[in-house]
Amino acid sequence: MSIEVRLENITKTFKTKNEILYALKNINFKIPPGKTISILGPSGCGKTTLLKIIAGLERPDEGKIFFNNEDVTELSPYERKIGMVFQNYALYPHYKARGNLAFPFWIKKTPEKEIDEKIKETAKILGVGFEYLLDKKPKELSGGEQQRVAIGRCIIRNPSIMLFDEPLSNLDAKLRVITRAQLKRLLVMFNTTSVYVTHDQTEAISIGDLIGIMNNGEIIQIGTYDEIANNPQNAFVASFFGKPSMNLIEVKVINSQIIWRNKGIPLEKPIEDGEYLLGFHGRDVLINPDGDIKGEIYFIDGTPADPSKILHIQLEDNTSIKIEIKSGEIYRCGENISFSLPKRIYLFKKSTGERVV
Ligand code: ATP
Repeated sequence: MSIEVRLENITKTFKTKNEILYALKNINFKIPPGKTISILGPSGCGKTTLLKIIAGLERPDEGKIFFNNEDVTELSPYERKIGMVFQNYALYPHYKARGNLAFPFWIKKTPEKEIDEKIKETAKILGVGFEYLLDKKPKELSGGEQQRVAIGRCIIRNPSIMLFDEPLSNLDAKLRVITRAQLKRLLVMFNTTSVYVTHDQTEAISIGDLIGIMNNGEIIQIGTYDEIANNPQNAFVASFFGKPSMNLIEVKVINSQIIWRNKGIPLEKPIEDGEYLLGFHGRDVLINPDGDIKGEIYFIDGTPADPSKILHIQLEDNTSIKIEIKSGEIYRCGENISFSLPKRIYLFKKSTGERVV
């Protein structure tokens, strides 16, 4: 049966020579039983530290971790029954793949016959060709094959939670797509609560039922793809998530009007005067000759094989924005275009990033 994972007020610091570094600041979230959460964030934001704390490889300074209602904060990784797959696979180099799978059972002195059966079962799950890898040592395996063995070693233990730290980043682009699909299939099949750390948005979206956006040791927002993409709660999420991310333009609000390009855009509900960031998605913009905003295309991102392309536009006031178009639409660099502000707009406080509209 799948477990619920709950983190309460987790804080973790590292002491360096001159300062105390807050790697995690007061983290609170829940993963529903059987769901996979992708943790996405820039380099150094604390993703691996968070994973290690859930695993029991690091202890928090403050806070507690619960698996269902059991407090596991003081338990070792072994007692928590975690399965973990790392970026560098971390296989035991002198054991064959079979030994790598069998190792935890040797420690428990499980009878060989039982271990053999478990390995056979795992090989069946991992599909065609896996059995053939079992009699090779890690150095005789390709990166993709080592990764399959690492995944096998994770699932054979029937863990209560599976943890993945950038498991696909050492694979080439094609193999990454194939392995990503296989992994997602396994996660759905096992229905084991899982955490998947990555800095690759496509991976985060295709693997996770939920996505947690991290920055500077904090979880900024957790939600489904739709919630994160269309309902960001914070300017950081809006600027970080999406390909392309949302356009964000510095504006002022005076008397409940957004002032941009010396024009006033009335707001539906009054908000405090001040400095804000006006947000809108490039995919919501419609180019049309009657539009009141004008600019010049200075770069077109995308290939004919992509379903859409991104126009990079320099506006008259020198701000730069991105507009998404269908690949079939033909535009040239240097061309002038006009458009109107889309209906769906967002507004974030410049000082705090908090969303207000
Ligand atoms: P990346 O995507 O680059 O792997 P990350 O988001 O996984 O980064 P962490 O590895 O969790 O980030 O590190 C978070 C912060 O804590 C970083 O500033 C890192 O330098 C620091 N840190 C991590 N482990 C230690 C440690 N053992 N001692 C001191 N500082 C550490």
